[in-house]
Amino acid sequence: MYLDICRGVYNWNHGERKDWIQSRKNPIDRCSIEKEYIISADKPFPNYNIQANNLTQYKKQYPHLAQVHSQVLQSTLKRLDQAWDDFFKVEGRGFPKFKNQNRFRSFVYPQIKRSDFKDPEIRLPSIGWLRIRKSREYPRGMTPKQLRIVRKATGYFAQIIFVSHESVPEALPGETSLGLDAGISSFVASSRGELIKTPEFVLRAARKLKSLQRRLKNKIKGSVNWLRLQNKIAKLHFKVANRREDWLYKLAHNFCAVTDNIFVEDINFKAWQRGLFGKQIGNSAIGKFLNQILPFIAWKTGVYYQKVDKDFTSQECPSCRLPTGKKSLNQRVHNCQYCGVTLDRDVAAAKVIERRGQIAVGQPVKSKNTCGDRGAGVEQLTLFAAEGTRSDLVTGL
Ligand SMILES: [Zn+2]
Repeated sequence: MYLDICRGVYNWNHGERKDWIQSRKNPIDRCSIEKEYIISADKPFPNYNIQANNLTQYKKQYPHLAQVHSQVLQSTLKRLDQAWDDFFKVEGRGFPKFKNQNRFRSFVYPQIKRSDFKDPEIRLPSIGWLRIRKSREYPRGMTPKQLRIVRKATGYFAQIIFVSHESVPEALPGETSLGLDAGISSFVASSRGELIKTPEFVLRAARKLKSLQRRLKNKIKGSVNWLRLQNKIAKLHFKVANRREDWLYKLAHNFCAVTDNIFVEDINFKAWQRGLFGKQIGNSAIGKFLNQILPFIAWKTGVYYQKVDKDFTSQECPSCRLPTGKKSLNQRVHNCQYCGVTLDRDVAAAKVIERRGQIAVGQPVKSKNTCGDRGAGVEQLTLFAAEGTRSDLVTGL
């Protein structure tokens, strides 16, 4: 219900913005062929401030709006504002959409206090105390900042962001290094010769999902059986995503435990994902691992993390450093024609990355823009979010 009201506010205000844009599309002395709302020429674009102001007015008109805490509605408008902002500023971002129930799953309390937590309950302003199942302990010595309620396939979840007032010093490069490369034949390869495979449970779940999705086609859209199956698919997705994430965190801890420095290749995985390896990369979540989880765990455990220049890592011999030329995708082995060294191709690339990292230590490789995930609770993460465009993706392999 709460969600529906937020969604209504979102969609209504989105419509208002859209109408405004539409009304400016045609020259003023001509009539549009399609029907447009006529909005007077001096009416300013309904930005966040205007819409937030209007919201207070509408509350008098529509009492049901008052059921939702005012800050929650404001943060809903903020979210709309962000979507529009991104559309204009972030390359490749689509035009904001009207949200149906499936696309609108969360709302945010932008301010929350310590006193709103009382085991095992949590107080949602204007809703009251709710019993929750705590998935982890609240961090000590940190201040709760924001609370997001998310609807997922298995129920409602509370996501709490805590902020720390102490600054954590950045890790400094140490003695031992580890290079990691997003593998072609494996999930990830390390410069110490490890080849990590995507776990079997992920592959199995992917097959299972595929078969369920095939079955979905035989059902009538919207029917009870269709819904039941849809729900089953959503639950499986959720379960697998959780298990995979768990696996990724453990993997990151394993890597961080054996080295002082970690170097990874600076690849724009988003663009890569759209390209040739969509499926494999999408499944294995390598981008999330190298760009988000690994830097976070490294930061937590005091391991130095850095990205290095990605170009030609697979075309250089890690042993004699000579360029050995392009490898085709199905070529699994690096076999140097100059020094005769034979290695798995992913391991060879990881070794090149390690060496580049050692050379680059202390100096950033390239400047990156820092428009990362705004929702992330940890500031450091945004530093590593690579957002660039890259069209020559295949050449580096
Ligand atoms: Zn060589």
